[in-house]
Amino acid sequence: MSVYKNIAEFLEFINISNEKFTLFEWKPARSMRRFDLDLNIIKENPISDIFFHKDKGNMKIVYIRKHNLIYTAGANPRVQYQLLEALLEYIDLKFNEAYDVEVILSYGNFSPGLFERFKQNTEDIIMNFADLDLVKRIHVECRVCNTVLPLFIKKSVIENAESHPVPIVYSHKGHAILCFIDRNFQHRGIELVNITG
Ligand SMILES: [Zn+2]
Repeated sequence: MSVYKNIAEFLEFINISNEKFTLFEWKPARSMRRFDLDLNIIKENPISDIFFHKDKGNMKIVYIRKHNLIYTAGANPRVQYQLLEALLEYIDLKFNEAYDVEVILSYGNFSPGLFERFKQNTEDIIMNFADLDLVKRIHVECRVCNTVLPLFIKKSVIENAESHPVPIVYSHKGHAILCFIDRNFQHRGIELVNITG
């Protein structure tokens, strides 16, 4: 639960870019880390509207391309991907509420400080993340670990699904379980799955 309640402590960065440059970046106070290399690779991905995950060992990265913007978040590996996806979905929503991005970018040149005030929005979102009710926490039993594990799932995954139950793969500690989640966020079966990739 603590990761969910205190996601701010586990985040490394949030970045909003277009093809050419960073429009907005949030990092924890005093963080001097740069993520240019990762962001350059991410920008090469042409696929829209699908979340991608990258496990760097000491950091997890989630990113998605939406229209002409690319949203990226990096966090401690303890943060489940679904939490980062939910965060980016909400950041996308609020960023587009705050700015008419299409119009701004069409000007060609704009003040670099224009998106600076979104820092406060981002701080607010991060601090109140658990209260936004974007994610459900359920418990699933893994027969391999022989433990009950918390599984976080975005509400949007279940609410926007075309059919139920919705399968979700929970990969952890070198193996994975496939969990079927119904529309009431109850799990309807858990299987051990074989993995490749
Ligand atoms: Zn397990």
